[in-house]
Amino acid sequence: MIKAKGYAVPTAKAPLAPFSFERRELRDNDVHIEIHYCGVCHSDVHQARDEWGRGIFPMVPGHEIVGEVKAIGSKVKKFKVGDLAGVGCMVDSCLDCRSCKEGLEQYCEGSGFVGTYNSKEKDGTPTYGGYSSSIVVREEFALSIPKNLSLAATAPLLCAGITTYSPLRHWKVGKGQKVGVVGLGGLGHMGVKLANAMGAHVVVFTTSPSKVEDAKRLGAHEVIISKDMEQMKAHSNSFDFILDTVSAPHDYNLYLSLLHRDGNMVLVGLPDKPPELYAGSLIMGRRKLGGSLIGGIQETQEMLDFCGKHNIVSDIEMIPMKYINEAYERMIKSDVKYRFVIDMKSLA
Ligand code: NAP
Ligand code: ZN
Repeated sequence: MIKAKGYAVPTAKAPLAPFSFERRELRDNDVHIEIHYCGVCHSDVHQARDEWGRGIFPMVPGHEIVGEVKAIGSKVKKFKVGDLAGVGCMVDSCLDCRSCKEGLEQYCEGSGFVGTYNSKEKDGTPTYGGYSSSIVVREEFALSIPKNLSLAATAPLLCAGITTYSPLRHWKVGKGQKVGVVGLGGLGHMGVKLANAMGAHVVVFTTSPSKVEDAKRLGAHEVIISKDMEQMKAHSNSFDFILDTVSAPHDYNLYLSLLHRDGNMVLVGLPDKPPELYAGSLIMGRRKLGGSLIGGIQETQEMLDFCGKHNIVSDIEMIPMKYINEAYERMIKSDVKYRFVIDMKSLA
């Protein structure tokens, strides 16, 4: 076994604390990655605090992983020792069902996908995530990282990047469209950069007046303070697409009324409480409400290559591992500009 150290949540809602554990010996198709940086996603907070239920503890969160390949199994083709590599939200799936064959492993209906943490490998071993010194993963689930991008600022692409890229692509967002991004956090700020690069007219909805100037710098053409009903009303019936990244319960009906006829609103934010939805919000204007889960491996690589080409990375605040509990508190207060990234050198 390979010794690893990291930070874990010992029991639901407890603060994170140092944790030693082991990674499996390499199988033929495994890659051993020394983790240099790991992004902090709001999903880490939801799961560490067991807000979605069924949490597996101790839990080592982290699914925005980048680092360097330290060793490879005998049959590995995609990587060699010394390459940069990344791991996102999944480490395995059946690779055989209809969704997996279509490159949509996140919707695996065979065995279900194995999450990078808070999940179980096919043999029942709990998975531990990226708040740690290294990870062993089958090569199909490791990503190649563009060399021209800052490595630390690339980490958040592995979740925040793909989770916003995938719906923007699926709903064919592009030139001539008015696109809203609700919530300017980790996912939201990536959504703004990506929708802008795809050529859309981007409008940010934020509850934080202090983020208005940033939103414009990140690529928004307009910014709406979502608590100001006059500003909201002025945009009624005008959006082609709205991407909702908000982590806490809020009113979806309000945003649905801003869609133009046949417009789509897609949820990626996953609050812990069910929403109140009025049928009329959809019926009037034949509007559609959908959802989207991360993205498949092939599309994640496509997104990384797109970001490499367009020079897109996350705006980050680098933190040492021991700051993580404070980082969670700040994240809950929407006080992140715009993604915390843990520097794993601080574990040593
Ligand atoms: P984050 O960085 O904390 O950003 C969330 C943003 O939502 C905040 O910055 C804030 O933006 C806004 N917000 C927070 N509380 C709010 C409230 N009460 N009312 C209105 N707006 C509020 O979180 P994240 O990492 O981007 O994750 C966002 C959500 O996506 C989480 O629920 C996470 O679990 C989920 N997620 C889903 C997927 C998926 O595959 N679908 C993948 C990753 C994450 P403003 O300050 O601009 O208002
Ligand atoms: Zn995430």
